[in-house]
Amino acid sequence: GRRIGVLALQGDFREHVEILERLGAEPVEVRHPEDLRGLDGLIVPGGESTTIGNLMVHSGMLDAIRSFFYQGGAVWGTCAGMVLAASATTGPSQPLLGIMSALVERNGFGRQVHSFEADLEVKGFDGPFRGVFIRAPYFEDVGPGVEVLAEIDGRVVAARAGKVLVTAFHPELTDDTRFHEYFLREVCGSDERS
Ligand code: GLN
Repeated sequence: GRRIGVLALQGDFREHVEILERLGAEPVEVRHPEDLRGLDGLIVPGGESTTIGNLMVHSGMLDAIRSFFYQGGAVWGTCAGMVLAASATTGPSQPLLGIMSALVERNGFGRQVHSFEADLEVKGFDGPFRGVFIRAPYFEDVGPGVEVLAEIDGRVVAARAGKVLVTAFHPELTDDTRFHEYFLREVCGSDERS
């Protein structure tokens, strides 16, 4: 199976590890730059994006993940991970990986709507995907070369550009493993560079 790292600084990394195990991949909890060695892909989980971003800066992971990505590693950001993947934010400045050309609205669906679920039509998927949104971000705008995979009322909630995938919702909190399989097969398995 593929060796897939799950960034384990903060947030719901354990759920991703469990699904990866179930799919026969080899998950690795990543806390230090050297943990990235030999990985095919990395998942940046949901949590709190400023906390994860600051921990990334202090642990050297921000630069390490960028190098990993620019050397051909695949990256999937879910929720806070999607915020971190973006190149720019509508909010106050915070550390970002900037590996996907996109403008992110960090608490996009408003503070009142803390969480909700929605059936999403996902490009390339057979049948709807139940999206679990928790203080979810969205992309207000994406650059050329970014393929939109799902949106809600014109708000981008899933996208891909070469070896980077983002989802605003939490596939690791459902029993539907299609996004994990898609990441393993299509994104990690692709030779495409963004
Ligand atoms: N909006 C949150 C943030 O930017 C992310 C919430 C989540 O990951 N569930 O940190």
